[in-house]
Amino acid sequence: MASTLNAMDILRILPKTNCRGCRELTCLVFAVSVLQGRKKLGECPYVTKEVIEQFGSKEPDARNSGNELRESIDALKHKVSSMNYRDVAYRTGAEFVNDTLIVKVFGKDFRIDKDVNLSSDIHMHPWIVIPILNYLLNCSGMALTGKWTPFRQLRDGMAWDGLFQQRCEKPLKKIIDEHKDFFEIMAQIFNAREVENDFDSDISIVLTPLVKLPILIRYWKPDDRFESNVNIFFDSSAQDNLDLDSVYALAAGLVRMFEKIAETHGEVR
Ligand code: SF4
Repeated sequence: MASTLNAMDILRILPKTNCRGCRELTCLVFAVSVLQGRKKLGECPYVTKEVIEQFGSKEPDARNSGNELRESIDALKHKVSSMNYRDVAYRTGAEFVNDTLIVKVFGKDFRIDKDVNLSSDIHMHPWIVIPILNYLLNCSGMALTGKWTPFRQLRDGMAWDGLFQQRCEKPLKKIIDEHKDFFEIMAQIFNAREVENDFDSDISIVLTPLVKLPILIRYWKPDDRFESNVNIFFDSSAQDNLDLDSVYALAAGLVRMFEKIAETHGEVR
């Protein structure tokens, strides 16, 4: 029987330069993608044919991808444990009550107690939890500018705009096209706020996954000449409060969550 690989085994044979030649944001994300079967080892141009052949007899152990994510979360929690919660609350717009940090996530409480135990009314998927922990660690406290900016105009965003469109905007357009009450559901579940007369869009909503990281979704309905379109925007201060990887992960995680909700609701015209 073939031996198995985990993400750390795969990461070990990568250059760890995070050059993004494989169209993933980091070597670790690429390693997890290989583990999950979404990427092939040969998609990293720096892995030699010999290494690919050597690893060809081993099977990725997808069960370990969950362990890797848990390890990433534990490492971030360890860093958060050494922080001054009052300072974090001040920077992030969170509350600090009874030794507990209360971060608003879509307007709902996400609590971090003094031992960094997490609790919340929202579903705690790793792709949401990791950006939240990075937000606590890295948010500079920069005030929102109110200037909506597409992903490609964030620093280094242009190089990854194709990936952002594939993983975020295109699947979101499909969900909205197929679920006509998408915006009502967003308002009910995620406290989305509709923006009146926004640009030339048919519908625009603002979601607030984090107080200092609002997201604007603009939707154009199809007409006789054009098919529908969706664009996602961030406040121009986004990268002062969250790193680009986490901005991307948060948007991609959100779209995955919308897909799951859409599956649960079925056709909800
Ligand atoms: S191509 Fe991907 S996996 Fe290879 S070094 Fe660059 S970022 Fe890492």
